[in-house]
Amino acid sequence: MALKQKTLVTNTPQIVKNRAKLCHIKTIQVGKYKKLKNGELVYEIEYSVQCLDGTRHVTLRYLSPSKFGRSFGKGIVLSYPDDNSEVWVSCDCPYHKFHVEFALTKHKSSSIIFSNGKRPKVKNPREIPFTCKHIYLALETAKKDYARLNKTKKVQQKLNVQNLVNTDKNKVFDKNKSLFSKEKPEKKTMFSKKPKQKNTMFGKKPEPKKTLFNK
Ligand SMILES: [Zn+2]
Repeated sequence: MALKQKTLVTNTPQIVKNRAKLCHIKTIQVGKYKKLKNGELVYEIEYSVQCLDGTRHVTLRYLSPSKFGRSFGKGIVLSYPDDNSEVWVSCDCPYHKFHVEFALTKHKSSSIIFSNGKRPKVKNPREIPFTCKHIYLALETAKKDYARLNKTKKVQQKLNVQNLVNTDKNKVFDKNKSLFSKEKPEKKTMFSKKPKQKNTMFGKKPEPKKTLFNK
């Protein structure tokens, strides 16, 4: 298991996050599902991050919880940018190379590409997995962009319902739900007492409509 996006973001020192504020980010490959050579299905995005000290190339890969997905059909859980998604990251900057590539690779959240693969005894002796400013900015951007895309293109229909429990999309849906249930307070109580119903409702979109017709 690789590390979750939120773990990488939380581990990243504040000073690195502050440096990221001075950078500009540009998407050079929009997010797309891709099958790696080992058969693993990932959602990959590439960014160019321009800072005062130069422009760097970042690759993010969101790993599929069901690994080795055979198709996009029923039962395959697709990955996407989110706090709880497992992520693989890489950047061609010296900071990534000398501080974190080894530590991230140890947790399957990167690969030895730029460094010599030796322990960062001086730069990161505790081998804490965190990110450079470029990857940090890329992770935050991917999350925001995907949330926006999700709202417009309704990508969520392809995804496993359980993965959506904590997303913004679900909050939006909850708002809709309360709109429907305002007219029937009894229903509202029933639904809000059973959190399991939320998943079911989300999976079966026509359900709230049904309530309207029943009136
Ligand atoms: Zn970097």
